[in-house]
Amino acid sequence: MDSKSEDNKDNKKEKYVCNFCSKELNTKAGLIQHQKTVKKCLKLQGKNEEDGLSECPNCKKKVSIRSYKRHKKSCDLKKESSSKIKKSSKEKDKEINELKESVEKYKKELEEKKNINDNLKLELMKCINIIEEEERKNKKLKNMYVELYISYILRYRSEINKENGIDDTEDNNIYIRDTDSKDEN
Ligand SMILES: [Zn+2]
Ligand SMILES: [Zn+2]
Repeated sequence: MDSKSEDNKDNKKEKYVCNFCSKELNTKAGLIQHQKTVKKCLKLQGKNEEDGLSECPNCKKKVSIRSYKRHKKSCDLKKESSSKIKKSSKEKDKEINELKESVEKYKKELEEKKNINDNLKLELMKCINIIEEEERKNKKLKNMYVELYISYILRYRSEINKENGIDDTEDNNIYIRDTDSKDEN
């Protein structure tokens, strides 16, 4: 098993050659580990490759008893950090979803406000139209009153003039023509 290679005298390091598979190893410990763990070599030794192996409960990998403790430790660490990553990415996803939801909410609110705004504008336009219409009507009414008032005064004056024997037929209609309404009625 630990036979020194005979034609290696000139090499600075002595080699250990596996007498099953002829692999060269630098140390005796290396050779022992090789013969215990390398599947190819174990097969040549007639051993079932799973002999002396333990299954890791995390990753189901079969490892030698020697390296089981080390493997388990690093495997646990890997598992822990990957679950941490999973957790943090889950949290990020949650955050992103929440952000998306609030963006949607704001969009909706904005849309509603815009609609309200548009409706208000429309209402305002309607009000302005009504006010303008009322103003037109008022103007008309005012003109009618003014005309009525003037014609009443004129009639009153002409009656007084008649009583006093004054002829006023020339300036009878002057005031009516002065009002600024075009569609007088
Ligand atoms: Zn070997
Ligand atoms: Zn493992």
